Parts: sequence; structure tokens; C-alpha cells
Amino acid sequence: MTNASGLQHLCVAFRQLGMMVQKMAQPMFLPWTFERAQLRQFLAAVHHEPASERLCDVLTARHFDQLWTDPLLVQFLRTRCLLCGLQFHPAEVSGHLHRAHS
Ligand SMILES: [Zn+2]
Repeated sequence: MTNASGLQHLCVAFRQLGMMVQKMAQPMFLPWTFERAQLRQFLAAVHHEPASERLCDVLTARHFDQLWTDPLLVQFLRTRCLLCGLQFHPAEVSGHLHRAHS
């Protein structure tokens, strides 16, 4: 539910802005850099996955568009919890993040 409160809430404003940015020719801007050592530490639960190394490559090279265009990364990010490594149905990832890691 997009308008529910609590664990099932999806912020419509952020979703709409994300969809808008995805369609813009202007590249995504993040005002910080990613350090590979810090990424590996953050991704320790999924470090054995090939997609994990690919995610590090994409973030350190700042090729953010590949986060939603690379099939390996899309499948990885929509079904895996990066914090504990558990695998979920795409509809369950958001709820898991709120329940287990907030
Ligand atoms: Zn988790």
C-alpha cells in the first residue's frame, strides 16, 4: 500500500521523484564518493555473491544508471537484503528491512 502508515508505507513523493530522475538525461548526482573498503565492509553479508563485486564496481565508478539497468544488479537488489544476506520475494524486502534492521 502506498498510502498506508507504518511498515507498509511507500513514500509516494520519493517514488515519483525517483521515476522522474530515471527518465532524465542528466546523470544522478550524489555529493559523496564510495570507498571500496567501506562498501565491502557494508556488504559483508553478501560478499560471496558475484553481484556484490559488481555493485562495488558500479558505485565506485559512479555509473549509477547501471543500478536499474544491469539485469544482475536489478535482480540482486530487488531480492536480497544487503545487511543480512537473506533472499526474499521482491514485495517482502522493504518490510524485512523495516522489521529486522530499523
Ligand atoms: Zn536483512
